[in-house]
Amino acid sequence: MQVYGLLGNPVGHSLSPRIHHAAYREFGMDACYATFEPEPSELGTAIEGARALGVRGLNVTIPFKQDAISFVELDELADRIGAVNTIDFGGDRPTGHNTDAVGARRALERHDVALDGARAVLVGAGGAGRAVAFALSDAGATVSIANRTEERAEELATAVPNATGHGLSALNDLLANANVLVNATSVGMEGDESPVPADALHRGLTVMDIVYQPLETRLLRDAAAADATTIDGAWMLLYQAVAAFERWTGQEAPVEVMNDVLRSELT
Ligand code: NAP
Repeated sequence: MQVYGLLGNPVGHSLSPRIHHAAYREFGMDACYATFEPEPSELGTAIEGARALGVRGLNVTIPFKQDAISFVELDELADRIGAVNTIDFGGDRPTGHNTDAVGARRALERHDVALDGARAVLVGAGGAGRAVAFALSDAGATVSIANRTEERAEELATAVPNATGHGLSALNDLLANANVLVNATSVGMEGDESPVPADALHRGLTVMDIVYQPLETRLLRDAAAADATTIDGAWMLLYQAVAAFERWTGQEAPVEVMNDVLRSELT
């Protein structure tokens, strides 16, 4: 049996096992996807132990995405982002990748959002924000990063080509001329709140929220009311899983099957 899994803490509510098992079922694969919660001090031992046991691939989530970089050989994108969410044990040494960035890009592509030359505004400069910032910039967008803690946005902007850092008070001005807005803060997960003033949203914007619980956030409702195009957070979650599956197995993922299962789990 092929074994895959997720390293994080906590991982009990993760939807990843269901998304990956849907793909294994579709292809009749003898495979399983398990969740593991190692102690932070045992992260390296856990990764090395997984390799020794023949585990094919691991996803990595909070709080291990940054620390895991010490135990794998990073690809170029994960190296620039400074975080790993996918480990591949297929080679001589475990390799580390960042399919959050790939997931964000593919979610936007799926909705035909043109990023080359776009003016993108990214709200949030945490772990997910870093991955999205590089995804937008690599695809040719200029990226205005706005964050509650302004220094964090400025720091991220120094690492990302064609990016500038701002506080949240700049959002109205930044959005006036923007084509794309991505929320990568956790605002909207708990409480019916949006990190973006509703009156800054307009018809010319595509708004992607990476929060996926709830699926229909206050930001996306405000965006729909302003006639903006909306993309919910399940798309990025789906495509990071698709990218991990394809890296591990070398075959094209059954995207629609994975999407159907994911959406049946979310409200
Ligand atoms: P993180 O590293 O803790 O970063 C949190 C971000 O949210 C920071 O920018 C933080 O600003 C901001 N923030 C938190 N509370 C805020 C508030 N009350 N007002 C304004 N800004 C606030 O978390 P993360 O790992 O980046 O995750 C962020 C969100 O993305 C979570 O909801 C997570 O579930 C989601 N996510 C989705 C996917 C997907 O595939 N769809 C993938 C990864 C993450 P400060 O810097 O000022 O603290």
